[in-house]
Amino acid sequence: MTKLANEKNALNLSQGFPDFNISDNLIELVNYYMKLGKNQYAPMPGVPELRKAISDKIEKLYRCKYDFENEITITAGATQALYTAISVLINPGDEAIIFEPAYDSYAPSVIANGGKPVFISLELPDFSMPWELVNKAVNDKTKLIIINSPHNPTGAIINQEDIIELEKIVSNKDIFLISDEVYEHIVFDNQKHISICESRLLRKKSFVISSFGKTFHTTGWKIGYCAAPKSLTDEFRKLHQFIVFAVNTPIQFAYADFLKDYMNYLSISSFYQNKRDYFLKMISDSKFKPLHSFGTYFQLLDYSDISSLDDFNFCVELIDKIGIAAIPLSPFYSNSPTQKLIRICFAKRDEVLHEAAERIKKL
Ligand code: PMP
Repeated sequence: MTKLANEKNALNLSQGFPDFNISDNLIELVNYYMKLGKNQYAPMPGVPELRKAISDKIEKLYRCKYDFENEITITAGATQALYTAISVLINPGDEAIIFEPAYDSYAPSVIANGGKPVFISLELPDFSMPWELVNKAVNDKTKLIIINSPHNPTGAIINQEDIIELEKIVSNKDIFLISDEVYEHIVFDNQKHISICESRLLRKKSFVISSFGKTFHTTGWKIGYCAAPKSLTDEFRKLHQFIVFAVNTPIQFAYADFLKDYMNYLSISSFYQNKRDYFLKMISDSKFKPLHSFGTYFQLLDYSDISSLDDFNFCVELIDKIGIAAIPLSPFYSNSPTQKLIRICFAKRDEVLHEAAERIKKL
């Protein structure tokens, strides 16, 4: 869609990245550490200053202690952390439960390790977890359940009941969890992000993965992290050492300093909530029906009152007719669903959102 948007000079609300610049302070910090000479390989698990800052943040927000020496590893974005964690857990023949719609790297990483993705669709209208179906899907081969909250592409978030259901499913079983929490700092309407690590039981069986790309508007810097108990982290690092070895040194030092001012991440939810509300208000008299976005910088729009086309062809038509690029939901599913939903990304400058809304209203 981005390629098509560029070819046709459309406003690109498709791919999930901000179109505005990042904090000058953060750029200056990276610059500072480059000039200071922090330009060679970082230690394999990441620079200790950053691991310590992450451990402090997790403890402050989720009251959960990870030892920064043995339980936190800095990765080349969340995607590498996901691949590495999946490689630790999945052997040929193992099954991994993946909720759909799903971020696109999960299933290929399971398959690359000889595993079998078992897809379970989240339940409309609010994309909740269908626990009865999950219970039915669990068997002796189930090794992994992948959770993503706040959820891309739907903006759904998990609640305490989900945590209880998960605890019931994995207790006394050889099943592990990967919790993709890259949007942990983008949660709206005074809701609180629930991290899997807040559950004592789940923490023991989980790789918790996050990414600075989403939090600090730096998706192109590709730095994330994985927090997991020592026994899991030991296995993770055995692979990490040979998949990527170490990640960008000066940026790690810069993030470590930047994290010290907690407003740098605590302000992100209201920043994006304003954008969500600004956009929704402007399209309120359009024919699109917005679904509720609880978190992330994504908004789903139901176009069933506008067109009977499938979501892919509708997105192509949107580019042609009004010069707006959005993302169809079907690529997030193993089998295309019949629903008429598209995803837009509102991590855009207000003037871009304004122009997009003006065009959307013409439909
Ligand atoms: N998980 C989800 C749910 C995502 O949306 C993304 C980014 N689109 C990632 C992981 C990957 O994050 P990173 O860019 O840090 O690899």
